[in-house]
Amino acid sequence: MDALTAAVALVIAQSCIALVMTGAHFATRPERCTAYWALSTILVAAGVLLVVLGNSTGHAALPWLGNSCLVAGAILQLWGIQVFYGARRGVSGWVIGGTFAIALTLLHLLDASIYNRMLLLSATLMLLLLLSCRALLMGIGSRWSFGSVLTLGALALLMLNNLVRIGASIALAPDFLPMTRSPGVVSILYLVPLGGIFLYTTGLLLLYFERLVERKNHLAMHDDLTGLLNRRAIVAGGHREVEVAIRNRKPLTVAFVDIDFFKQVNDNLGHEAGDRVLADVARRLEEVCRTVDLVGRQGGEEFCLVFPGAGADCAPILGERLLTAIRDRPFEGKRQLTISVGFASLSATTGERSWANLVHGADLALYQAKQLGRDRFCLAAQAEGADGCDGATPPARPPTSAR
Ligand code: GH3
Ligand code: MG
Ligand code: MG
Repeated sequence: MDALTAAVALVIAQSCIALVMTGAHFATRPERCTAYWALSTILVAAGVLLVVLGNSTGHAALPWLGNSCLVAGAILQLWGIQVFYGARRGVSGWVIGGTFAIALTLLHLLDASIYNRMLLLSATLMLLLLLSCRALLMGIGSRWSFGSVLTLGALALLMLNNLVRIGASIALAPDFLPMTRSPGVVSILYLVPLGGIFLYTTGLLLLYFERLVERKNHLAMHDDLTGLLNRRAIVAGGHREVEVAIRNRKPLTVAFVDIDFFKQVNDNLGHEAGDRVLADVARRLEEVCRTVDLVGRQGGEEFCLVFPGAGADCAPILGERLLTAIRDRPFEGKRQLTISVGFASLSATTGERSWANLVHGADLALYQAKQLGRDRFCLAAQAEGADGCDGATPPARPPTSAR
């Protein structure tokens, strides 16, 4: 394969990626990273084509334009990564781009040799790739994915290629031009960077789609206001935990939590402040739970908690911990709040051992806690009948449907 054919193949592939990026940008406006990446993909493809055309036709302006496109493309790729990870764009792109443009124009005016131009281009691209690598590593943190590994691998390949180019243009300066026609050098000069660029833009595209899928999954499982699991997720998780607990003969407790007199918070502080208080309650509930516990918003000002491994004997400790977390510190507007909690535990030996049964029990126990004056917890009576509410006897409740 000669350089022109490779360049044309890259332009076609890059154009397809640019189209996907453009489509993604219009679908998710005002997100800017896709706009930067779409533009950079087009610029890099155009740059490669112009450089290869310039080298084969001997037209001096084409490589100048092509090199500028390549550097502009690399700057936009860097900006896209910075925007993607929510980092500040900074001035480095402008400074590097400006310096490169001035230096390249000077080299052209002075009619400098191709090695000097190649050295300048490779060094500039190397700097931009290093900055992109840094932005990528800082953005990834500890959340590695296939897309991030692919993008970093492609970046490493491109940086290695630039290092070889820098080394070659310094070491082989006078003999460099004739050597560019040998098949081995063509692969280093064109095929490796073309493959690297293609992998790099594919990696960026993959990173973007991984983010979309992650967001979609998060939205499907979490409540917008509190960030806790939503009702669907808590039901699915609850079913799963009950099955695991039954199979492993382990205890499990479910709690329903309802904020006492929450309507007054809305009436006195307004609905928006009510929302903030709800989110604060959710955060406090989450803080006192272990990472293996499930904490979800059942709806309105009600929450559902699942405690795998905790039996009925743990309910008093859990109950006190939950009540104290809400009661002990005032909320927005110095407002003192309390909650009522209904617990139901999987009995090892008796009762219908299902999620629906537990939920029904916790619902009844919550109603009992409300009836007894609120700011307390109740444990649903089990078949052996050993449990009650903070030591008090719970009143009967009209049957409610299981949630
Ligand atoms: P109780 O002690 O009997 O539970 O009294 P309560 O006032 O908490 O119960 P009630 O069911 O009468 O009122 C619940 C209130 O919760 C009414 C509703 O406006 C409020 N609420 C439900 N969902 C939201 C929400 O997402 N945001 C806000 N700000 N308020 C909500
Ligand atoms: Mg309620
Ligand atoms: Mg309430």
